Amino acid sequence: MPSQETQADRRWVLERVDDVSIVQLYADGFSSLSLRDKILVWHLYQAALAGRDIYYDQRYAHNLEMRAVLEAVLTHGADVAPPVLAEIRRYTKLFWINTGAYNNVTARKFLLALTPRELSDAVVAAARAGAEVPHRTGETLEGMVQRLAPLFFDATVDPTLTNKTPGGDRDILQASANNLYLDVTMAEVERFPERYGLNSRLVGLPSGQLVEEVYRVGAKYDADIRRIVHHLADAVAFATPAMAAALRALIRFYETGEEADRIAYDIAWVRDQASTVDTINGFIEVYMDPRGTKGAWEGIVYYVHAEKTRKMQTLATHAQWFEDHMPWEARFRKPQVAGVTATAIEVVVETGDSGPMTPMGINLPNDQAIRERYGSKSVSLTNVNEAYEFSTPEGLRTEFSWSEAEAARGERWGAFAQELTTGMHEVIGHGSGRMAAAVTAPPHLLLKEQYSAIEESRADLVALYFLPDAKLVELELVPAGQQEEVVQAEFEYFVRNALVQLRRVREGAQLEEDHMRNRQMIVNWLRAHTSAIDVRRRDGKTYFVMTDAHVFRDGVGRLLAEVQRIKGEGDYAAAKALFEQHGVHFDPALRDEIVRRVDALELPSYTAFVMPRLQPRMGADGEIVDVEISYPCDLETQMLEYSAFTREGHSVPTPTDTDRTVA
Ligand SMILES: [Zn+2]
Repeated sequence: MPSQETQADRRWVLERVDDVSIVQLYADGFSSLSLRDKILVWHLYQAALAGRDIYYDQRYAHNLEMRAVLEAVLTHGADVAPPVLAEIRRYTKLFWINTGAYNNVTARKFLLALTPRELSDAVVAAARAGAEVPHRTGETLEGMVQRLAPLFFDATVDPTLTNKTPGGDRDILQASANNLYLDVTMAEVERFPERYGLNSRLVGLPSGQLVEEVYRVGAKYDADIRRIVHHLADAVAFATPAMAAALRALIRFYETGEEADRIAYDIAWVRDQASTVDTINGFIEVYMDPRGTKGAWEGIVYYVHAEKTRKMQTLATHAQWFEDHMPWEARFRKPQVAGVTATAIEVVVETGDSGPMTPMGINLPNDQAIRERYGSKSVSLTNVNEAYEFSTPEGLRTEFSWSEAEAARGERWGAFAQELTTGMHEVIGHGSGRMAAAVTAPPHLLLKEQYSAIEESRADLVALYFLPDAKLVELELVPAGQQEEVVQAEFEYFVRNALVQLRRVREGAQLEEDHMRNRQMIVNWLRAHTSAIDVRRRDGKTYFVMTDAHVFRDGVGRLLAEVQRIKGEGDYAAAKALFEQHGVHFDPALRDEIVRRVDALELPSYTAFVMPRLQPRMGADGEIVDVEISYPCDLETQMLEYSAFTREGHSVPTPTDTDRTVA
């Protein structure tokens, strides 16, 4: 594990494409895995890459063809006019990041800013330079570009990927450009006995009949799924018994496509709680489908981060000590704390629905019946969180820091402190405290709409309160001698955040979101009741300055005692008054100032990640003797490599009639 200094010195932000920040993801724990686990990850990594094109095709029926044209030009662009090539490169990067020409956040189509003629000339030049450009038999390259032109250049053709509210009497399936349905309306779906809800494309035949093209071996995506299964089968020999059982169940589901096998797989996956390595591979999330039924394919491979999970387990093991030292009345202390655990993981690769844009935390399976009966797995993607933190634009810290020293502390300790306080929030915060003896109703019924904000405040305050405690050094959670700086950095960040978070609420003068209310309340309460925070102005700009960590902590302790009392007694009136006074309302003029300052920095709207790269090293007898990890630090290199990976093993799948199950 590199030190904080080398972390900060690393290349995080690689480039900016329009409003997207492209960031390298690191997986430092990989090298410490056993050889067996490394080989396991290697096979799962290939299984994750093998399914990537499924998701391209699910998002848009023309995606793979469009991508092949773009990549042909990029790889053979020597004779393409430089401004044309530059625009194709910009567009293709956005295309890779969003898996097609639809913005992941807005679902709206974006365009290639060239003329069809310019694209056509570029394609011809690429072909002359040796590129293999896919085109139909008897079709010229110019004819091919002409056929595809509306996809690249016309905003009115298939304008929206997923449209849940198309307006008028328009049909949500017809109004959505994705490839989960073909020539099908909602009225037809409602009359249809759907058998493969999660894992099929629904197609309307000219006869009016509907057919389900099931995603499985021998049917839709046969070639891709066979390759996934091949790599999963290779992985089985290196997996723990519990994980091997889950992988076998997954293979079975890919082979049959049957619901019963999906359930068996979900259960086997949830039961495997102890393996170091794990994977998510299949048709999982349903956000792309306006009906919320069809699963988008994704592949994720990760391992438990032993050191960071150890920190969480250390906190859980000592939860009783923290409970005994909570700054609240003894009657609210739990005599016996039950341990809470959460797993910190590092992601090695994310493809399909999970990459290059990634979630921060994952809780699966989605099947509610299985969750209730067998539980779920909850993981936080620590290396993703870390990459977000280290790639946060300098400007966001420096603009709102009163001094250079404050900004430097934030840069040095921000990621470390936030990870630790997040762990404390989850493990010793939410699990702590008990209700007053006379109160029998659960707190969320007593505190109603104030409950979440109170509970989040409580967990945040516990973390802030114990961060300066010597116990953390004793438990080796904070390096001795550096605790003071870590505390200072975290308190300063927390105070700055009350200002910075106002950028998200561009209208009105009121906060709705519970975490935002909670953080606003804590800072405003401390301003009103302690001298720990100074409001200063300089050059027409407002700053919240944390001036004394001891006074701050003392105030946090007093507020925590009161927040625990409110929860423990279910004191609705006090909860409401606390947030009304300190957490809900803000000064719109101040918000306008913050928005102006943030906009001047041109902060990115979202982030896309370049994944680590794996490469096996072979011994004399052809066995894998090691798997090496490296960091390409280049989106284009990685995307071209991934495309080559799926192109090599099989040709682009051709539609056949064998993959249709006629109902
Ligand atoms: Zn929480």
